[in-house]
Amino acid sequence: MHNYLDNPASLKIDLMLRGIRMEDPVVKAWACGCSGIDMLLPQDTLVNIPCMEEFTRNSPYTVKRAGERYFITDGRAEVEVKLVERPAFYSRKTTSGVQFSEIASVHGSYTVITPSPRCDFFNRSIECRYCAGNFDVKGSSDVVYTIEDILETVEAVLKEKASEVIYLSIGFSQGDDGGIAFLKPYIQAIKKSFNCLVAVEALPPRDNRWIDETYAMGADSVLYNLEIFDKELFELICPGRASLVGRKRYLESLKYAAKVFPNGTVASHLIVGLEPPGSTCMGIDCFTDMGVVPILPIYRPSAGKALRIEPLTTEIILPVYKHLYNAVKKNGINLSWVRDISMVTTPAEIRGLVDGGKGGTLMESFYKSRIGLKAAWGLSTIRRKLRVVGSDDSDPSKH
Ligand code: SF4
Repeated sequence: MHNYLDNPASLKIDLMLRGIRMEDPVVKAWACGCSGIDMLLPQDTLVNIPCMEEFTRNSPYTVKRAGERYFITDGRAEVEVKLVERPAFYSRKTTSGVQFSEIASVHGSYTVITPSPRCDFFNRSIECRYCAGNFDVKGSSDVVYTIEDILETVEAVLKEKASEVIYLSIGFSQGDDGGIAFLKPYIQAIKKSFNCLVAVEALPPRDNRWIDETYAMGADSVLYNLEIFDKELFELICPGRASLVGRKRYLESLKYAAKVFPNGTVASHLIVGLEPPGSTCMGIDCFTDMGVVPILPIYRPSAGKALRIEPLTTEIILPVYKHLYNAVKKNGINLSWVRDISMVTTPAEIRGLVDGGKGGTLMESFYKSRIGLKAAWGLSTIRRKLRVVGSDDSDPSKH
């Protein structure tokens, strides 16, 4: 068994992958029903650790408390950590009576704000198969928060110094603009009222002029999240994105945005665990060649959505993160924007794991190894699982 407790970057990955068992009542109360608990590992490495999902019951990790001090232990060794306080503003409400925690979710240097949790993919039963329960998206909903609600939320975030970047996200809606027309008044109001950075996660617009306009309206960073690089798996797992936007349009939009926005501010997620590691690496190469920052969240299986490729271990995915770091460095992509995020391991955090320029050879030898070959089997496993999930999961009310 590996010991990842000595290295915060690899420990972060192992914790995100396996979660933690919450046995101590004080720590349990701290997590207070959230699916993940934020902790600060050594070297100020912030991590959101899954603690409620079924798969976390098999985790070797648990939290040990000694007075005011906390340790993560795997039963053999331990490392001191700090529990991250829930932001105080979460428990307060906007003037119109909406709980701030309904609108905003702090993930380290980023606070995600969703002015409307609606996504029209749900109404057509073509939602992304991993959605709901994994990324705090509520699916079909008619809620639209007012600009005042959002401005009060941003003010609360900034006053508490909870984050420096406001991350606005939007699901799919009809139209050619990818949701940016809906977000425009929010972006403009935030930029007019506060001195903060705004990142926008939207769907790729049909026309590049919306990308120019996204920059012109004041967004500092843009994300079009492809999520899965493999063409076939993208179509199976993200049927809405594939049929109504298309993989080609994702890649075109990212390429164009990287020419409009400053270096390092255009990004796209590739979810680790929903496709074979070699395929994620191909996505990393494609994105970084275009000047796009790949962001690699780890898939968190929730009940009824066990889409994860197997086997999936930290030993298997560490080379992917190393590959990410080397690719970003090789292409001279600025890393200062994407850092200190609790939900994902960022390229900047991997720096300590990469020894000189050995990343490439490490990848090659890994995929020639026995365990690497086993990882490549994941593709057929996931196709099979999708068939099963697809047949049980066609009812959107189950999400
Ligand atoms: S685009 Fe996909 S992940 Fe995003 S809210 Fe819609 S279904 Fe969920």
